[in-house]
Amino acid sequence: MSQDIITVNNLIRKFGNVVAVDDVSFVVEEGKLFGFLGPNGAGKSTTINVLCTLLKPTAGDATVNGYDVTKQQSAVRRSIGLIFQEPTLDLELKAYENIEFHARIYNVPSGLWKPRAEALLKMVDLWDRRSDLVKTFSGGMKRRLEIARGLIHQPKVLFLDEPTIGLDPQTRGHIWKYLTDLREETGITLFMTTHYMQEAENCDRIAIIDYGKLIALDEPAKLKETVGGDVITLRTSDNERAAQQLAANFGLSPNKDDGALRFEVKQGESFMPRIVKELSVPVTSISMHRPTLEDVFLRLTGHSIRQEEASTKDELRHFQQRFGGRFR
Ligand code: ADP
Repeated sequence: MSQDIITVNNLIRKFGNVVAVDDVSFVVEEGKLFGFLGPNGAGKSTTINVLCTLLKPTAGDATVNGYDVTKQQSAVRRSIGLIFQEPTLDLELKAYENIEFHARIYNVPSGLWKPRAEALLKMVDLWDRRSDLVKTFSGGMKRRLEIARGLIHQPKVLFLDEPTIGLDPQTRGHIWKYLTDLREETGITLFMTTHYMQEAENCDRIAIIDYGKLIALDEPAKLKETVGGDVITLRTSDNERAAQQLAANFGLSPNKDDGALRFEVKQGESFMPRIVKELSVPVTSISMHRPTLEDVFLRLTGHSIRQEEASTKDELRHFQQRFGGRFR
């Protein structure tokens, strides 16, 4: 039985009227890849910042590597590595110097950090570029250097806040390979936030968070099982009427999303022709797929996790925050 390396109990964090993290509790087992999935503004970064001791909780408590995040901050900081969205590298220094600086901050003896730096820079394919100034690096190279740097003090937990955001798919793939290799070799625990569904699929367990609340927590496959059956996406010339007929004739209650109706049925292939035949509204398109995490999210919340929608909601939330009350 692996032990819990992160515990979070009834965590609440408010910013004025906004409840960014709303009574969240969960544990992360040592050595696991744990994903925090939710749209922009859901409360992912706030939770991570509390766990990293960068923000104090309003209520509740949390431990990392057995240390309390409010009472034992230094011990927590020694136990963790951080890879955040905003790069924190010194661009005017060489790659190797960035690593060295970090090692010295953490008081890692040179006999230890030097061989580690070489191994880590080789792992992220930057050993040959170690003497180049960071300002000459691409976005992907900087992120890789941050990963190497974040590991130099051998943290027990690596926190990654949207580690692949803004990177091209190939670089994202590389970053994922480094992270999964690293975990296999060292048994490090990885705690990451993402709003990329495919990335969340790689996690051992996923916590889904929306409006600060934890709404599901399980293995990706188990979460998808909760959707049940096949997901049908239907577009018609009159979605309102089609939805009424789906409810009356088939007992279905479709989600309305992005100009389409979405619902789950047991045997999609045989169900699709029936719908087209029996609806009195012209069908413009109909398709079917196996459930994804996007479907899980939609089923649980009634809305999509997609970036566009999420950012609009976040803007609304900021507006609300400024003018009082709470937008839902
Ligand atoms: P996510 O990481 O899921 O995008 P965040 O944790 O950044 O979400 O934000 C959660 C909510 O808290 C949002 O409504 C955001 O606007 C608000 N928030 C986050 N940080 C601050 C802050 N420093 N001051 C005020 N509001 C904040």
